[in-house]
Amino acid sequence: MIIEIIPCLSDNYSYLIHEKKFNTISIVDPSEFKSCDEAIKKYKKLDFILNTHHHADHVGANLELKKKYNSKILGSDLDKNRIPGIDIFLKENQKQKIGNLEFEVIFIPGHTKGHIAFFFRKEKIAFTGDTLFSLGCGRVFEGTHEEMFNSLNKIKKLPPETKIYCGHEYTKTNLNFCLTYNPENTLLKEKQVDILKKLNSNQPTIPSTLGQEIETNIFLRCNDPEIKHAIGLKDSSELEVFSKLRDLKDTF
Ligand code: ZN
Ligand code: FE
Repeated sequence: MIIEIIPCLSDNYSYLIHEKKFNTISIVDPSEFKSCDEAIKKYKKLDFILNTHHHADHVGANLELKKKYNSKILGSDLDKNRIPGIDIFLKENQKQKIGNLEFEVIFIPGHTKGHIAFFFRKEKIAFTGDTLFSLGCGRVFEGTHEEMFNSLNKIKKLPPETKIYCGHEYTKTNLNFCLTYNPENTLLKEKQVDILKKLNSNQPTIPSTLGQEIETNIFLRCNDPEIKHAIGLKDSSELEVFSKLRDLKDTF
């Protein structure tokens, strides 16, 4: 499984997946036609389009790509009326093959009602869309804070070596937010060095690993005493801490 990162729009990432055995080409969340088509060109085909959710910056190139390559579009069955050109409706925990690869559908509502992640268990790779970012999480648009919290906890249960490929390059702002409320986290400070190095040489900060995120991403650390103290909620539940952090981040 070879993954090519395709920067799109101002800060989106689309991902091209090349599965070699059957030469299957897929793309996750095609934002814009031109950048995606440029990456697809050398293969002269696009078998599958995988959408994590219905937002325009994740499905923007669906129809144009489908028209050019006759691709099949996969997305949540809950978004069958909102994902342009959808062909295959995915359900929670369903296993789905693309060529020789298999992924599991993880239902992670909160950002939108039908948001899903694609987890390739054998390869330990997850595409998390706008739910889990490196050092952050997505805004709660259609769901509740509790749904988002539960969705992140679902992702947390995957193997720690899992590589996390998310929908946006938001890592710099997320890093500053994490440092504000968890300044004594040494692993976070180590990650900061690595992130700044990558950004300074125009490299994506993606992928991260789930293990690193659990150690450094404030939204996965709602039980950390330093964070709880920093936001004045030292005796509160993890959900309350999460909700407060999410609200603070909305205006950060
Ligand atoms: Zn979105
Ligand atoms: Fe997005």
